[in-house]
Amino acid sequence: MAAMNLIDMLRAVQSQGMGLLEAVHRMPKTELTALGLAGSTAGRWLRLADVFFGPTRRRRAQADAVAAARVRELNRAVDNAEARAHARRSLKGGKNTDARGCRTFTVTGPERVIAATLAAIEKAARRLRRDNPRLSYEQAMFDALLAGHGQPQEKLTPHVVIGLPDWATLLRDDGDESVFALTDGTTITGAELVSRLMDDFHLVGLYDPCTGPINLYGSRRQSNAKQSALLAAEAILCDWPGCTTAADQAQDHHIAAWRAGGHTNIRNLAKLCRKHNGDNDDDPNAPPRNGRVEREGGDVVHHGPDGVTRRNTHPIKNLSARALAARR
Ligand SMILES: [Zn+2]
Repeated sequence: MAAMNLIDMLRAVQSQGMGLLEAVHRMPKTELTALGLAGSTAGRWLRLADVFFGPTRRRRAQADAVAAARVRELNRAVDNAEARAHARRSLKGGKNTDARGCRTFTVTGPERVIAATLAAIEKAARRLRRDNPRLSYEQAMFDALLAGHGQPQEKLTPHVVIGLPDWATLLRDDGDESVFALTDGTTITGAELVSRLMDDFHLVGLYDPCTGPINLYGSRRQSNAKQSALLAAEAILCDWPGCTTAADQAQDHHIAAWRAGGHTNIRNLAKLCRKHNGDNDDDPNAPPRNGRVEREGGDVVHHGPDGVTRRNTHPIKNLSARALAARR
C-alpha cells in the first residue's frame, strides 16, 4: 500500500510541472541542489518558475498560460486520456450562412487523428498548388478535403539506422547497390550486409560516421523515394543554419547542381526547405550571395558569404541519423 502511494506521488510530480514550478518559485537555489538536483537543472527550474509565477505587467496573459498548461497536464495524467479524447470527437456547425454566403463547421478529435488527417489533406493540397500556384493555402486545403483526401495515413514505416560495422568499409557504388570490403579480404553487397545484421524491417539505412549516408534497403527499390527517406532520416530538419522546417517538408537539393553534372546520388543530396533551396548559391564560382551547402565528412555544412562555415545546430538534429551514427 505504501509503495503504491510513492508511485502515485512520483507520477503526480512527473505530470504536474506547473505545480512543481509554483512550489519551487522563490526557493533558494541551494535548497534545490541540496535535494539532489544538478545546479544547471535547478537554475532552469527557477527561471521557468519566474516566467510563470514571477512579477509581470502582463498578469492576465501569465495566468492564462498557467491555466492552459494545468488543463493540459491534467488531461495527460488521466490513464485513458486517448479514449477520453476520442469520446469528445465531434463535427459541429454548418447551419448558419454568413453575410458572404458561406457556412463554417468545426471538427474536433484526438490530436493524433486531427494531425494525421490534416497531414493527408496538406499533402494533396501541396500538389494542387503546384499545378495552380494562384490557389491560396486555405483554398487548396478546402479543395483537397472535398476531393476526399482526408483519410489519415496511420501506417508508419520503421526506418532503422544501423552504423557501418568496423569490419566493413565502402568499396564502391555499383548502380543501385553498394559493395563493401570486409576485413577478411572478401566483398559483400549492402543488401547482404544488412540481411546479415538485421532480420525483417522495411527500410534500413546504412550510414558511415565519416562519409555519411551510404544506401537504403527495403521492400521497395524506387530510387527517389528511397533517397528521400534516407535523407529525411539523416537530416530531420532543413540543413540551412537556423531553419526549423521539417525534412519531410523539404526538397532534395543537389549539392553539385544537376545542370553542372551533379548526380542524383545520396552523397550529392541535402535536405533544404523550399526557401533555402532557392536561396542557395548553386554556382560555387559565382560571387557569393547567400552562401551554399556542402557535404564535409558525413555532415552537411553551410559556407556563408562571409566565409564562415556553419551547421544547423537545432537540438532536434541530435536525433538525426547523422548524429546517431556519429555518436557510435
Ligand atoms: Zn530551410
